[in-house]
Amino acid sequence: KDNNLQGYAPICLGLEDFYIRRLYHRIQDCFGRPISSPPDAWFDLVERVSNDNNKTLKRTTKVSRCLNLGSYNYLGFAAADEYCTPRVIQSLKKYSASTCSSRVDGGTTELHSELEEAVAHFVGKPAALVTGMGYVTNSAILPVLIGKGGLIISDSLNHNSIVNGARGSGATIRVFQHNTPSHLENVMRENIAHGQPRTHRPWKKIIVVVEGIYSMEGEICKLPEIVSVCKKYKAYVYLDEAHSIGAIGKTGRGVCELLGVDTADVDVMMGTFTKSFGSCGGYIAGSKELIQYLKYTCPAHLYATSISPPAGQQIISAIKVITGEDGSSRGAQKLAQIRENSNYFRSELQKMGFEVLGDNDSPIMPIMLYNPAKIPAFSRECLKRNVAVVMVGFPASPLLLSRTRICISAAHTREDMVKALEVISTVGDMVGIKYFPAEPKKP
Ligand code: PMP
Repeated sequence: KDNNLQGYAPICLGLEDFYIRRLYHRIQDCFGRPISSPPDAWFDLVERVSNDNNKTLKRTTKVSRCLNLGSYNYLGFAAADEYCTPRVIQSLKKYSASTCSSRVDGGTTELHSELEEAVAHFVGKPAALVTGMGYVTNSAILPVLIGKGGLIISDSLNHNSIVNGARGSGATIRVFQHNTPSHLENVMRENIAHGQPRTHRPWKKIIVVVEGIYSMEGEICKLPEIVSVCKKYKAYVYLDEAHSIGAIGKTGRGVCELLGVDTADVDVMMGTFTKSFGSCGGYIAGSKELIQYLKYTCPAHLYATSISPPAGQQIISAIKVITGEDGSSRGAQKLAQIRENSNYFRSELQKMGFEVLGDNDSPIMPIMLYNPAKIPAFSRECLKRNVAVVMVGFPASPLLLSRTRICISAAHTREDMVKALEVISTVGDMVGIKYFPAEPKKP
């Protein structure tokens, strides 16, 4: 019925299968677009233009310069950086792009050792192990930490890599309501008698798995409460800081720093380098014994090629900038900037009447669309105005909880954000997603 949505809205709610197929036919162009530049505040997006109604593969491409509201480039390191880039180029010349070996078979350079020391020191743990991919870090390490006879209690909205690792471990899995420590405690109680010593429980061990910032919700983990439930029931805490490390906390050290949790109370600290550090790979940080054990047993360490040296150098250099070891105050400025940008953008969206998920300080801000028919409309209308957004639909979210997920970076200027807000507001009116009354503008 909405004229603005003509040509977009499939009107067949209820016929789920047909609906999904039809919807996906229409939204193909919202996902999987190639880019042809670094994923900085602005990037070059390649639009595939079909020449003949998709009947053959003949396509031409058009490149548009777009404001990038979708990448996890939180601190702006995923672009040429005056400190990182020259060092990365040097390391490429020195070590080449790949070690062509696993860590134990000649794939450990001095750079890899330096990287693990730097990561352990940065996150506040005695030791760290770095792998070539964040996804693999969860999916390969959880099965090493726990197996049959163990219990994993997992947040209901944990990332797929955690779900995969938990399933692959063979442990029993229980799920607690997203970010709800009281429900975690209920699940604990249902599965163990209170006060039973660790050695007399029906489980060999219990691991509670949570994330620092939830990537589809923008919410910050209620870590202090979760840690206290785990202490009470003698369970281990496994924290995935993919989105929080480098992005929040006064000095970028993540959710522990932000919420005043002692890192000694988090047994396994996991994270990735694909967000704030502008690189790739993942890490596990913990006690020296834990890391030593993983080095002997983890398949991703023993059988996978080690992280590419230039990617490792990017991480080392980014950490130096964040901690000020590069001799400048750029790191502190970036951290202050991402906080300021995130809080400004979130509050402006809320004032406009959007339903925005997540917490203050979180650079991730999903705006609810609900109806998946609005996905292609929102994405294409933004794109027409040179703003690129990430759309989240089924199966990444429940079918009727579709959303657009905005990621703000320290690299966005106030001017960029004002433009983005104007476009989101206009398109938000077109597709009808301002669910709350707007706050009157101050004169
Ligand atoms: N954990 C979480 C919470 C994530 O959001 C992601 C991916 N964004 C990963 C792990 C996997 O990390 P990577 O993309 O670096 O492989």
